Amino acid sequence: MRTKQTKVSETHGSCRLSAFDGMTISEALDKNNASLVIRPERGASSAYDVQRLYDDDGCVIGFRLTKRTQFIVDRKVYDIDVTRGYERQCDCPSAEYSGKTCKHVRALQQALARCGQLPQKPVMQSNEDCGLDDL
Ligand SMILES: [Zn+2]
Repeated sequence: MRTKQTKVSETHGSCRLSAFDGMTISEALDKNNASLVIRPERGASSAYDVQRLYDDDGCVIGFRLTKRTQFIVDRKVYDIDVTRGYERQCDCPSAEYSGKTCKHVRALQQALARCGQLPQKPVMQSNEDCGLDDL
């Protein structure tokens, strides 16, 4: 008798960040023209528009992921807060209820790191704009 064996995969899905219109990733992130595709280990992949968010002083405070769906009414928006340093907080239900790092944060972090766009700790663009002069 033969039993069918399923191979256990070591991977946990993949993700890819890309820019439209020949922009660099950095330009695209600022113009809401970047796209993040998350391919989970199982199930359908999902695509998000990614926009980098700044505060009034020009510091990066987070990223907004807008899920691309066939119908606009189904679109979901997730904001990922990066102001706590390396601890990124997403406002999706999965992150809020479980308290774990959700796939949005994991994928975005991985994709940004690969493109050299990961905000450093402390999160800031440049010294002059971030109020360090008064220290
Ligand atoms: Zn999330």
